[in-house]
Amino acid sequence: MTKGINASIARVQDGEIPYPLHEKHSRYTHLRETSRPRTIVIHKPKFIITADKNGEVQVMKDKSISIQDGVIVDVFDPEKKAIDLNTVDLFFDGSKRGGLAITPGFINMHAHPPMYLLRSSLMLEKGENLEKSLRDMFRFESKMKHEDFYVSTIGDLTEEQKNGITTTLSHYAVFDPIEEAAKMVRHNVVNAISAVSNSHPENTPASVEKLLKKRDNYYTQIAIAIHTLHQAQPAVLKKVAALVKNYRTLFTTHVAETQASVARNLHVHGDLTIPTLKRYGLANSRTIMSHCVHLTEPEIAMVAKYNMGVVHLPTSNKLHRSGEFQYPLFVKYKATDRVALGTDSVISKNSLDILSEALQTRIMHQEKYVVYYEELFKMMTCNAADILHMKDRGRILPGYRADLAFWKVRDRGFIPYDENSPATIIGNMITHGGRNVRDLMINGEFVISNRRHNLVNETRLLDELQAHHQQLRKRVPQK
Ligand SMILES: [Zn+2]
Repeated sequence: MTKGINASIARVQDGEIPYPLHEKHSRYTHLRETSRPRTIVIHKPKFIITADKNGEVQVMKDKSISIQDGVIVDVFDPEKKAIDLNTVDLFFDGSKRGGLAITPGFINMHAHPPMYLLRSSLMLEKGENLEKSLRDMFRFESKMKHEDFYVSTIGDLTEEQKNGITTTLSHYAVFDPIEEAAKMVRHNVVNAISAVSNSHPENTPASVEKLLKKRDNYYTQIAIAIHTLHQAQPAVLKKVAALVKNYRTLFTTHVAETQASVARNLHVHGDLTIPTLKRYGLANSRTIMSHCVHLTEPEIAMVAKYNMGVVHLPTSNKLHRSGEFQYPLFVKYKATDRVALGTDSVISKNSLDILSEALQTRIMHQEKYVVYYEELFKMMTCNAADILHMKDRGRILPGYRADLAFWKVRDRGFIPYDENSPATIIGNMITHGGRNVRDLMINGEFVISNRRHNLVNETRLLDELQAHHQQLRKRVPQK
């Protein structure tokens, strides 16, 4: 069903990254001819920025990284340890021309990628109110077909990749288009599929279980979503809790985003949201809650006690006038390590990057609490990985997956920084706004090289997105 799109946008027809990746002045040197380099050395980038095992953010200078079959083997001083180049497939020089800064690939903890095609929907209405925007959006979503969801998700994930994101928690009511798109662009996706949905009544806990039973056959990691708890009857919540337990999977839902949603939860379940989750066996570390704007203080204490995951989305909350997340209370209950960041969909954020979301976090709370840059960096990387139970992502350490974002240091996003205190580049990176990566590695494969996507022709992708958007408009009845 998506063959037509692939014939148009794919840079390569066999779906393989077109190694070798060299060009003039290349940082890439292929030492052995192979269709897929398995042994890779990233030589001496100027900086490697990562949290260590204990969650302390480090800026390492002039270290190298060796990678074998998608896993980081060593982070070492190239002056002290010699590498036998006969054993290396691909040598990537991170030291040239002002050098590079390498971070773990960022983790986007809340996204609705199939909505990418609706990007202009907020802009085209006249800004009356959120309820109207959401109604308008639903008119479009209900007319979308498999191909639309697919091309949307490619558009969304590739924009995230350009912004250094390598892992995304997707929350939506369709599964296959996200699975196919993630595979096409090699993105790590936790594919949380709705167990109850107004737009897709065929979605039930039983339909999600069918996918979970076959999960080894899929590229994406399957998880369970419910848009909001008040949409689900107690019997559904009990079934979801049983699936989480039996399959050791993740569960995600929008929590206390607005005062209205808190009121609806009270009406349907007779309680606040976190006690409702507790009652049905969902107050645990496998539950990931987006927004959490209107939680009460006792509820935040419960989030800490039960080690639940929280996704903070300040841009979305500001744009929709939802309210203010109580970050200082998460500090008080020592739950800040359980907080990560997300983009939400394109109707709730300007650009699908997590760096500008970190800046929004800093700005939203600065009157009451200064969120340090190191803390923001952890939200984008290791906090998110820990919340996802991904013990081998979100850090640049031996044994971790090679998900790496490569940023040019000689760039307005980094310069000037204090050479005696390289940690200043973390603040620069965040305050100078979202940036595009130079290169991006996911599971040891270069998905972006020299600022070009290796699997998708971006020009043709934009044409496809435009064409699908316009065709969708024709199918939506005029009011
Ligand atoms: Zn959302």
